[in-house]
Amino acid sequence: MRIGEWIIFFWMLRSGTEVIVVDTGANAAKMPAKGRTPLISIEDALAGVGVKAQDVSQVFLTHAHWDHIGNLDSFPKAHFWIQQAEMASITGPDMTFAKIRGAYQADEVQRLVGLVYEDRITFLDGDGCFADGVDYLLMPGHSAGQTALRISTTSGQLLLASDAVHYYREAAEELCFLAFNDAKAMLSSLRRCKAEIAGDWDRMIPGHDPQVTWRYPAETHLSNGDPVALRVDLAPIKGLEL
Ligand SMILES: [Zn+2]
Repeated sequence: MRIGEWIIFFWMLRSGTEVIVVDTGANAAKMPAKGRTPLISIEDALAGVGVKAQDVSQVFLTHAHWDHIGNLDSFPKAHFWIQQAEMASITGPDMTFAKIRGAYQADEVQRLVGLVYEDRITFLDGDGCFADGVDYLLMPGHSAGQTALRISTTSGQLLLASDAVHYYREAAEELCFLAFNDAKAMLSSLRRCKAEIAGDWDRMIPGHDPQVTWRYPAETHLSNGDPVALRVDLAPIKGLEL
């Protein structure tokens, strides 16, 4: 499935003084070769909402594709969490398939291995509770260890789907995304994501849908007015187009 434009996001969960960064976005130096233009560094995006990347202590990785783990070393004091199924996939036979390997960067995978040897990664296995109000759900298929997060916010429960659902329409119509590790598992995970939101699309945040950038209020902007930090925990300000 191809649906036009796609946006690269990362997310931050904040409760009081506790901060959890979810994914680290794409590496700016690698983006032009992939036809992408970096808009803002992850350090500057976080600084805009009062968070210093160098001080972040918790980074949850939803999967290891290049557009999600491109800035691991922007978080020198962080501990990282990732599904063990993802780590096994990206360091084993799955990567002999060029089609699957194409969504990863060898140096970034090697950096993850380095973090293992630095005692800075905890491996997850399936579903569980990550923090108070933050549950992780294994949604395999797009990648072997793709994970979504069920998050309790002050205005209700959200499913941060990451790439278990790239686009709202993908989930609504059970469409097969073009990049996958296991197509049937990916479709099953789409269905599970839909079951999680029980028909309330305002509770789903897909991983790359441009609609997220105008549906939710922005807390910070680029100098040209484009939104940077979106408050997906608040009620949408525009309706959804499916
Ligand atoms: Zn992905």
